[in-house]
Amino acid sequence: MASSCPSVAELVAAARRLYVQVFGEEAPRVAVCAPGRVNLIGEHTDYNQGYVLPMALPLVTVVVGSQTSGQDVTVVTATEDADEPRRVDFSLPSYGSALSPGLPSWANYVKGVIQHYRAPPVPGFRAVIASSVPLGGGLSSSASLEVAFYTFLQQLQPDDGDKVSKAVACQKAEHTHAGVPCGIMDQFVSVLGREGHALLIDCSEYPMRRRQCEEAASILGKDSLRDATMKDLEEARDRLDDVTCRRARHVIEEIERTVRAAEALKRGAYKEFGKLMVESHNSLRDLYEVSCRELDELVCAAMEVEGVFGSRMTGGGFGGCTVTLLQAHAIDRTILHIQGDKSAAQSSVCHFKGFGNGLGRVPRIFPNLAVSWLL
Ligand code: ADP
Ligand code: MG
Repeated sequence: MASSCPSVAELVAAARRLYVQVFGEEAPRVAVCAPGRVNLIGEHTDYNQGYVLPMALPLVTVVVGSQTSGQDVTVVTATEDADEPRRVDFSLPSYGSALSPGLPSWANYVKGVIQHYRAPPVPGFRAVIASSVPLGGGLSSSASLEVAFYTFLQQLQPDDGDKVSKAVACQKAEHTHAGVPCGIMDQFVSVLGREGHALLIDCSEYPMRRRQCEEAASILGKDSLRDATMKDLEEARDRLDDVTCRRARHVIEEIERTVRAAEALKRGAYKEFGKLMVESHNSLRDLYEVSCRELDELVCAAMEVEGVFGSRMTGGGFGGCTVTLLQAHAIDRTILHIQGDKSAAQSSVCHFKGFGNGLGRVPRIFPNLAVSWLL
């Protein structure tokens, strides 16, 4: 059964203790945090200029620290996957190669954010990171780290405060320093997500699948798949190979599903939203081919329970998490049912009540797969 995850205050307190212990100084002056996210629907649509519908989670990355008088930077992180806190030291004399990506790889996210910070030069500082977002679990620990760090730098040296530019700078950090050509969704919702809300993002600005989508758009004579309809696709059928056609069909239909899902959510039409989630999952499994056996089984197990509206894989795929929409009274029996499923037994289950609003029963750190509950 799910155990509880630390509150923001507890994470900050832990980070402050570690700060005092490592630096032998009194308490850090700054404490900031940024959330991870779960995507409700709209998968692999962000880099096709389509729609996504994520919500911010009460799982957060916290950064505490203080400015120093010099140009030296020290960052310490305590994560569940390492026994000891890890530390990186570098110097910032007019940046230069100190910010080039290298080892340890986790520090690249920090360096990237400094590199792309909109009000350079950044002063020297000491900082400690603590996070309740599982690393590499598909809930965007990377974007929450980038956005938390950017927010930390804003406390040391204010920039113009433009939130969209902040998200774009963090996305750039992931591109240039982590080598991940991600869309804008993760950073956008981490910066702009609001308690009590899902966020419909129109990604009209943004490696094998991306090329396939671009190729399909070009064969259809469109700037992007956002401009294509299923009729366009059918008419171009002879000019597209089977695989490219399947990929394009997923994106075209998923963009439409995401808009319909956002409308359904506004109306409180949860059954309809749930149905769209399952359609999205099936499309990711069969047309986009980014699901895996474990995710399919988690979705099937959830859908067997009365009171469950919908379930789907969330994130880029090939592992990660599923997200399930269900009635509050069905939570316990759904958790039991999923945990009774032999192959899903590896998963941890967590419960996010009311769209990131309130902490209910939330996870420890999950090993591979997780299920998050929304209602
Ligand atoms: P996801 O964003 O789904 O969690 P990613 O692979 O995009 O997965 O990002 C995970 C990586 O981000 C980690 O391997 C690590 O390098 C870095 N990272 C995230 N959070 C932290 C943290 N609190 N401390 C150190 N590194 C972190
Ligand atoms: Mg990530």
